[in-house]
Amino acid sequence: MEHFTQTMTAIKIHGGIDILRLPVNQEEHIFPPWHIKYTQSHILHSKCSKGETGCSDNDGNACQFCIFSNALELPHMPDMVFPNNILTLKHQDGATIQFNALDALKTVSNGKINVQLACAEVWKESRSESSEYLEEKVKPFDWTFTTTYTGTISNFEIEETNERIDVDKLKRRDKILFYHDLTLFEDELHDNGIAVCSVKIRVMPSSFFILLRYFLRIDGVMLRINDTRIYHEFGQNYLLREYTSREAKVEQINAPPSLFIEPSEIAPYLPLTGSRYHKLIIITNKTELAVDSESIKETVVNSASVRTNAGDTESSVT
Ligand SMILES: [Zn+2]
Repeated sequence: MEHFTQTMTAIKIHGGIDILRLPVNQEEHIFPPWHIKYTQSHILHSKCSKGETGCSDNDGNACQFCIFSNALELPHMPDMVFPNNILTLKHQDGATIQFNALDALKTVSNGKINVQLACAEVWKESRSESSEYLEEKVKPFDWTFTTTYTGTISNFEIEETNERIDVDKLKRRDKILFYHDLTLFEDELHDNGIAVCSVKIRVMPSSFFILLRYFLRIDGVMLRINDTRIYHEFGQNYLLREYTSREAKVEQINAPPSLFIEPSEIAPYLPLTGSRYHKLIIITNKTELAVDSESIKETVVNSASVRTNAGDTESSVT
């Protein structure tokens, strides 16, 4: 974290004082009871920054490269990994949802190639110069970095649901109080396409919406999109999380190739290959409050101290 001590910060307390400075490497927005923060910085270095031998697994001060390579054991990382691009949403009762590159890469299959990558054969034939890349002498891994990551969550109860995100409401395009997007990782597949994982958030007066997207295009071969959508209406005790996978071989896609570079344009043309719908219920301390007046007092004190802290942070960046 010392990394950020000299970076610029913008903090916006909604309904309060607004401080904004550019350029920013991190920003915090408070929409009670939610605290939304992002950090962003340079890409992961391509080797250990501490020496030839690399940092060990249990080195508390391991460099970021070693933290990633020890945790992932992938034969190689995507061209660009953004270890500090992190979006965090924290509810005042502790429920937290976060998006980060390390956890996203943890779901990339290692040691076994996804059977659906059979079309790699086609790719291999059409791109002889890439064959070395595809036939790496290392153990096989998913070189498309396909991730099924849906975010890192804690203090939520998860249950399946039939409730769906109200798309019409989202299309209404209410005033946007905060918007940001972050790339978690990206790889150009040795100039044969792209694999990119990114997250976008927008906060409106009565709700927030997050889209975490993994997009894969293997030129002339296939497209794949794994989306996680998270929607919350302020005042409700849960978030809706929808995960969908879409993919098709290029010859099966009935759309102009000019759309192939635009994930949101091409998504409707790709058949759905999987979906999961969940309700993330915020675990609150309300139950305790109802039976214990002491904890009510405590909470009041806490919220007062939160406000004080927010004030401190404000003055520290003035
Ligand atoms: Zn290291």
